[in-house]
Amino acid sequence: MDVPQIRTPGSSDDSVIDTRYWHRLESGRVQCDVCPRACKMHDGQRGLCFVRGAQDGRIKLFSYGRSSGFCVDPIEKKPLNHFLPGTSVLSFGTAGCNLACAFCQNWDMSKSREMDTLADRASPGDLAQSARRLGCASVAFTYNDPVVFMEYAIDTAQACRELGVRSVAVTAGYMCAEPRAEFYRHMDAANVDLKAFSERFYYKVCGGELGAVLETLEYLKHETQVWFEITTLLIPGENDSDDEIDRMTQWIAAKLGADVPLHFTAFHPDWRMRDKAATPPATLTRARRIALGNGLRFVYTGNVHDSDGGSTWCPGCGSCVIERDWYELGRWQLSDSGACLACGTRIPGVFAGAPGRWGAQRMGVRLGGRVAP
Ligand code: SF4
Repeated sequence: MDVPQIRTPGSSDDSVIDTRYWHRLESGRVQCDVCPRACKMHDGQRGLCFVRGAQDGRIKLFSYGRSSGFCVDPIEKKPLNHFLPGTSVLSFGTAGCNLACAFCQNWDMSKSREMDTLADRASPGDLAQSARRLGCASVAFTYNDPVVFMEYAIDTAQACRELGVRSVAVTAGYMCAEPRAEFYRHMDAANVDLKAFSERFYYKVCGGELGAVLETLEYLKHETQVWFEITTLLIPGENDSDDEIDRMTQWIAAKLGADVPLHFTAFHPDWRMRDKAATPPATLTRARRIALGNGLRFVYTGNVHDSDGGSTWCPGCGSCVIERDWYELGRWQLSDSGACLACGTRIPGVFAGAPGRWGAQRMGVRLGGRVAP
């Protein structure tokens, strides 16, 4: 049974809560055990993610119930192409991240050390009620990695499940085994970033370890029922060689199977990596060809208009079963349970009747109260 969240005694700030994955060190410091970064802190210090830190000899989360904003998005934007296609998802994030990617595409939130980025307040119950009121099939923990605000994400997922709303984690998968098991018990779907296929890239560009991410992927596949898809952002000259894509997709086919959808998305210069050019669409197409050649059955190109690479093709008969242009769905050739109408092959994923009709729109919403300045 999960332990309920405990508010900090005597604290007037309900965004500060006690956490449970940490331990005391002989040196007097406390170590956070949520991710392999294992930050060791004296009282008053924060971890690399900045939203977890040491206070009163314990590790606390300082951003519970606070968000950097809310948006209703198409589920295809997470990206998830085999999870309730066409439905809308209430997306939100907080601040902070446990990786330090030089190319971060969401750095204004993930790198924020300013609590005033977290100007919106919403309890887990508010979020679940709002998702249902807005007609969203799911809530997504996104924009920054939910690993660093796992307690808030779990409580929200629990409130959502009670109302029949699903929960989606958009994550880099850099997490320790024990908190990971608790976290994914509450998730229905995930999109995991596989940022590259070399320890060099993870260490130099992200400040992390590839091995830990591969462990999370294998864990999801073999020890959970969570539907998951993988995204790789291809950066020219960094992680886009034929050899690296070949090794990565061979690993996915061998360890995770041919049915895990893989999305190759285009990088645009940002944060500390502004010296690289944007990814040409031809790179995404080349990567897709290599992945298909290694046996993966659902490989997508993202952030580009490419109906070939954006659509879902039946592995049984080759017909187009879900046509897509970017986030917009076109022709739909699946039964209510997700079987190809032409040959009956079951497409892996989570399908529930006719597709949603949300389309490509993105709608900002205000929930709950604003945090007083
Ligand atoms: S979750 Fe944050 S505080 Fe904890 S180990 Fe990871 S980066 Fe450090």
